[in-house]
Formats: sequence, C-alpha cells, structure tokens
Amino acid sequence: MNDTSPAQPVLVVNAGSSSLKYQLVDAATGSPLAKGSVERIGERRSTTTHESSGETHTGQQTVASHREALAAVAESFRRFGPSFDEVGLLAVGHRVVHGGDRFSDPVVVTDDVLAAIEELEPLAPLHNPANLEGIRVSRERFPDVPQVAVFDTAFHHAMPAHSYTYAVPKAWREEHLVRRYGFHGTSFAYVSRRAAAVLGHRIEDANLVVLHLGNGASAAAIAGGRSVDTSMGLTPLEGLVMGTRSGDIDPGLFSFMVRTGMSADAVDAALNRESGLKGLSGTNDFREVDELVATNDPDGKLAFDVTAYRLRKYVGAYAVALGRLDALVFTAGIGEHAPRLRAAVCHGLGILGIELDDEANLAPGGGERRISTKASSVAVLVVPTNEELEIARQAAAVVTA
Ligand code: AMP
Repeated sequence: MNDTSPAQPVLVVNAGSSSLKYQLVDAATGSPLAKGSVERIGERRSTTTHESSGETHTGQQTVASHREALAAVAESFRRFGPSFDEVGLLAVGHRVVHGGDRFSDPVVVTDDVLAAIEELEPLAPLHNPANLEGIRVSRERFPDVPQVAVFDTAFHHAMPAHSYTYAVPKAWREEHLVRRYGFHGTSFAYVSRRAAAVLGHRIEDANLVVLHLGNGASAAAIAGGRSVDTSMGLTPLEGLVMGTRSGDIDPGLFSFMVRTGMSADAVDAALNRESGLKGLSGTNDFREVDELVATNDPDGKLAFDVTAYRLRKYVGAYAVALGRLDALVFTAGIGEHAPRLRAAVCHGLGILGIELDDEANLAPGGGERRISTKASSVAVLVVPTNEELEIARQAAAVVTA
C-alpha cells in the first residue's frame, strides 16, 4: 500500500433479505470512495442513501426487488459520483454468509459457483438466497466486471476437527454436513491482522481472542492468523448472547417448547428474533440496555449480566484452547462503543492476568487503542472492524492473482 500503487476500486455489495448495502473502496489504499444503502426493499417506500465527496444524499422511492435496488445504486453513482467508467471497477465483491464445507477462499463467480451457493441455502435460509440474488443482478448489470464471492465462513474453514465436530450421529455429519462453521470471518481476518500490528507482532506469532460484538456476535480464538475455535456453529445462532438471538441453549429446550404446543418454525423464529438482549430486556439495541442498567432496571441489568458472564466464559475457554494469550480484542458496534461491557468482561478475568486500564477504557474517541495497564500480562485492545475493506482486498487479490 503506497501512493504509487495503481488504484483498485472494488464495489462491495452486501445484499440482505430487505436491504442492499454497498461501498466503493480502493483496495490498494483502503480509502472508501462512496457508500450507501437501499433499505426496505419490497415495501411501499424504500430509502436510498448515498455518500460521496463528503455529501450524503437520501431519497425515497419504490424499490420492488434487488434488481431495482441495484439499478437505484447505479443511478446514485451516475448522479452523485464517482462514475464507474471513470474509476474503472476492478471487481464487485459480494458478502456471502455461508460457504459450507465447499469454500475456504474467495472465488470468482461462475455458473458452477452460483449453483454451489444455491445448494448451501438450507444451511443459511435467511442469508444465502439474498446474497445470491445480489450476485445475480450484479452480474447482469456489470457483465464485464469480475464478481467475487467472499464467504463469512471461510476464515474458520481450517479449524481443527475437535473444534468443529458436534457429537451427533455420523449420518447427520456425513449426509447433511452438520458441523460447526463459524461466521464473521472477514471481520476476524481484518481485526486479527490489525491487532497484531498494534501489538507489534507478526500475525504468525500472535495468539488472540477476538470478540466481534455487533447485533450478531461471536468470539474467535485465533493463533497465527488461523481460527482455532469460534462460538457460532452450523448457523449463526450458537454462542454469545446477541441482539435477538439466544446463543447457547440446551438443545433439549427446542423439543421441550415444541411439546408445549409451539411449531418448530415458531420456536426457531423465537430463538432467532425474540431472544438475546431483546428477550431479556425488551430491546435489542445495546445503547438502550446500557441506559436501563444506568437506571437500575432489573431486566436491563439481567441482560447485561448474562451477556458479560457468557463472554467471560468464552474468553476463559479460548485462552485454554490457545495455551497462551497475547491479546483480548474488542470490535464491532458494542465492542467498540460500550466501555461498561468491556469493563464487566475484563474485571472478571484477573485469573488470566488481564488488567484493564479503566481510564483508557473510558476515554472518548475511536480508533485502534490499547486499554490494558502496563502490568497486564494480556493486552486488551479495541480495534474497529472494517469488513468492507477486507472484502475489497480479498476480491482484488483474487482477480489480480
Ligand atoms: P453492529 O452490528 O456492529 O453495527 O453493532 C450494532 C450494535 O452496536 C447495537 O446493539 C448498537 O446498540 C450497538 N452500539 C452502537 N453504538 C453504541 C454505543 N455508542 N454504545 C453502546 N452500544 C452501541
């Protein structure tokens, strides 16, 4: 990365079921050139937002499908810039949530790749169909630009068998590919590299526990840049307490609730959409949970305590899995912006030699920073994630290889 490297503009597309988020990034310099979103696709009024050259343009229009959403994105670039023709798109990088056991690296999209992603739909019924639709419409709109699929699961592909194997019947594992896959891979890849740089270590020498705490949340144990274990499993439901997802539960809870008269789909929906912080406190927004704690609301306090305790358990377990821990790293919306939660996690981890610098933890301002004391035997870092840049870099690397 230097000023003389040629620009590598990559359009990063993250297509969800009712939204399409995008960012135009120069993968060579890391500079974002434009970003935006189309929200509420398929509803009567969709909102478009486009930021470029320091200006934000918002609008409302009817956007019935992902195809129309991408047309709206192209129109925003045409009206507000930068022009795709002028920047010369190197690639379109697509976030794909589930790569199953098939994809361990980003790939240029072909018909075979599309068919393989389609086959993986049962593993991620909420995410993969939308991601796939995003790729299809982008291929039509930019037929001359390579489309690259970057998978959330890929970073964890090399986890050891003892981490990814569920103790379930062999037929389930072999016929239905039941195993732990893990998610948030582009975030873990980016954040672990940046954390090693902040520590002044080579990534090959760094043993890290990274806590990606956003609306979805997962922890990863990372040794030498490779995932050793992670808290999400076959689906993004397992592990930590999340905005609306329960994280770990007794699998027996599922059939117990079905025996109370609920359908399997209703139980599944409740565990994914009505549980986690929302189930415990009534809100999935951690800022509101923080406010409830400040006013001594018992439900808010319980949500906070269950979340922090689960995090401490995972950090302890992953420190053991790694054998040696160089740094505990917080990232994503909550990890980067909720000092009270970081304190609750770290104050319970003295047994690992973790000592938080309370002043540094509370200091305002973002950016990469160390928030542990000099005496702490494990560094505690805050490292803002940048999944779009990671997708852009991975897509650029594939097409220029
Ligand atoms: P993400 O999915 O990474 O965008 O993170 C979303 C989560 O971060 C939501 O639960 C937000 O409430 C939380 N969050 C964002 N900003 C703050 C903040 N300043 N304080 C506490 N939580 C925050």
